[in-house]
Order: sequence, then structure tokens, then C-alpha cells
Amino acid sequence: MDHLRDFLTFAGQSPTVYHAVAGLADRLRAEGFHELRETDPWLIDAGEKYFVLRNDAALIAFATPDTGFGAFRIVAAHGDSPAFKLKQHFEDHTREGYLRLNVEKYGGMIMSTWLDRPLSVAGRLILRSGDDLTVRLVNLDRDAVLIPNLPIHFNREINSGYAYQPQVDLLPLFGFDGQPQEGSRLLEEIADRAGVSCRDILSHDLFLYNRQPASVWGAGDAFFSCQRIDDLECAFAAVEALPRTVPRDTVSVCAIFDNEEVGSASRQGADSNFLYDTLTRLGTGLGASDGEIRAAMAGSRMVSADNAHAVHPNHPDKYDSQNRVFMNQGVVIKHNAAQKYTTDGLSSARFELLCQRAGVPVQHFANRSDIAGGSTLGNIANTHISMETVDIGLAQLAMHSAYETAGTRDLDYLIQALSAFWTEG
Ligand code: ZN
Repeated sequence: MDHLRDFLTFAGQSPTVYHAVAGLADRLRAEGFHELRETDPWLIDAGEKYFVLRNDAALIAFATPDTGFGAFRIVAAHGDSPAFKLKQHFEDHTREGYLRLNVEKYGGMIMSTWLDRPLSVAGRLILRSGDDLTVRLVNLDRDAVLIPNLPIHFNREINSGYAYQPQVDLLPLFGFDGQPQEGSRLLEEIADRAGVSCRDILSHDLFLYNRQPASVWGAGDAFFSCQRIDDLECAFAAVEALPRTVPRDTVSVCAIFDNEEVGSASRQGADSNFLYDTLTRLGTGLGASDGEIRAAMAGSRMVSADNAHAVHPNHPDKYDSQNRVFMNQGVVIKHNAAQKYTTDGLSSARFELLCQRAGVPVQHFANRSDIAGGSTLGNIANTHISMETVDIGLAQLAMHSAYETAGTRDLDYLIQALSAFWTEG
């Protein structure tokens, strides 16, 4: 439970991907990892630990062995979650005198879960700094906006399948002026909170987030709920496990990507050159030739860690009758014949054997054959750098809700499994 408490604190401090990556970087620094910059040449020592950020939204950390290396052992997860993003001009003064925020969807969320609950705003500000730009994280950290439902009296079909229209139904309320005003009062509050001048804010990447605090609940405290369990739980487990491992003749690598929820095709997503470049540069830094690095890549293995769907108590019929998984029953290996999950017989067997030796229970998941299901980052990363890969995760409920639920015992299992993978996988 210590890990879980630590995770819930981390998740509460990570309303956006920028905060999550900054928090993970702080944890790595505290464990003695040195920060590298992509724009500098890299000097890499054997037996040392490093991390590199891309666009403050993705992170790759690695630990090198004391002597030469023969392969990479990679754990990949993602730090973004579905949310609403504020548009560049986001204050909307309605004719009726309301002050609303103009937002758009980021990722595929369960929209109804964002209504009628206190929300706040967090993200990053891009500031003028002389002739240059600086970036500042900001979190309003108060109940600031809310998306109100229409009363049932005006929307009788709300309980029989209602199609929310983002540009109509999902614009959050911030204030009431009585009369339209010039200027941006929310931007001024955000500037105040960040300790900067409103005039210096040239742009921003700001998101809404759910203000409801994390909760541990249920019989025997079996469950916990908070925002962004998918995929902060796996990202946290990876960064927690990495410093505990002592690599022998492999380089331990932890990659936390952004933009998984919108297809990964960005500068800092799994569909970028970030991982390939980092492995090439660290290999070169350790004195390996191009041929040696390619040989190491060929013998490498990846664990793509992204949460899985636990059987829903009210809808067990949505799940495959044999390949279904439950919370608190261990790490999930995900299978898909169409290779949306990269797992195959070999990578599944190897990971299961590893977990057996580490004393970690394993479950297997596949979708019903008439349900498409989701995909994740393993198969996308493999188009850039191909290696034996297993897709895993922890079983959770209500994926992509603003308030997700998972099992309190599983985080420890994942940390144990990832430590074993990096130590001997
Ligand atoms: Zn995910």
C-alpha cells in the first residue's frame, strides 16, 4: 500500500502530461539520474543512469551496465489521458452574460463523466522572454469551472442514449459578467498563479482536469479511484522499478510517451524517432559501433505497459468468456490476433515465466471476437524499432472516464514484474 499511497500523491500532482513528466523527472533526479539534452552531445558512462525529455511531454530514462552491453530491455508507457484542451482564444462571453471556456476534445473520453463536477485548469504557458521563449508549468489548483447538464425536463432522452455535442454541450462555465467584457479574466488568474505577466503569455497548452481527490474504497479497501489511472499507473510503476534494477549486460530503458490517446503520431509520441534516436545515441556514447548497436537492437525486448479492461460487474457479457481479467489478480498479458497488441506466443511465454519466477500472478486478456477493442503503443513503437514485445497492463474499470477505478493490490505486482524484467528479463 505504500506504493499506492505514493502513486495517488503523484497522480494528484499530475493533472496534465507536462506535470506528470516533470514529476517523474524529479523522482529520477532524486535517484541519481543525470539529465541529458537532445540538443547537446552525449557523454555516457558505464554503470550510470540518465534521462532525457522531449518537448517536456515525453521522457526516456536508462541505466547502463558496468561493462559492455548486448541488448536493450525497454518498458514503454504513456503519460497523457483524454481531456478537454483550451483553444488559443478560450474565453467566450455569451449574449446572456455567461463567461464560458471554448475547449476541444483531446482523445476519446467518456464525455458524461466530465459534467456536473468541479474542474480546474492546468498545463503550460509559453512566455515571451526578451527575444526568446520560456515555458512555465501552471496549475490553477482550485475549483474553477464546471460543465452543467441540461435539466432532465428539457432533455427527456438523457437516460436513453444522448449524443453529446462537444461544441454545444461540453463548454465549461467560468463566470457571469452580466455584460460582455473585453480581456481574459481566466488568463489573468492563470498568469497570477504562475507569477508571470499576462502580456508575456504568447501561447499555451492548457487542459481541464477533474478536481475530485483520489479515494480508496470498497470491502477490504479493494479498489481505488482517481483521474488518469490509464496510463499514469504503468508510467509510475516503471519509474519506481527502474532505479531498483542492476543491469548486468543489458541497458535498462524506460520510455514514457505522449499523445497515445490521439494516435501517437507526434514529435513526442511512440510514432516518433525519440526511442530510436535515444538508443542509437546512448549506444554510440558507450563506444558501440553501428553494427554492434543494430545487433543489440535485434536482441532487445520491450514491455509495452498500458492498462487493461477488468470485467465490468454489470456487463460481464462484453468480455471473452475465457480470456478475461479481474482487478487485484495480477499483471495482465494482452493478446490480439490482428497485432493491435504485439504479444505473440514467444513474448507471452517469456513474460509469464519471468513473472512466475518473481512470484507475480499473471492473467491473459483478449477481446470478444465481435468487439474491436483498443490499441496501444507497442505496435506503433515497433514500426520504428522492432523487437520481441509483450503488451501488458493492470486490470481497471471505466477506462477513459474522468474518474477511473483499479485494484489496490496490482501496482505492487507490476513494480515487481518490471524490476524482474530489467534485472533478468
Ligand atoms: Zn492507455
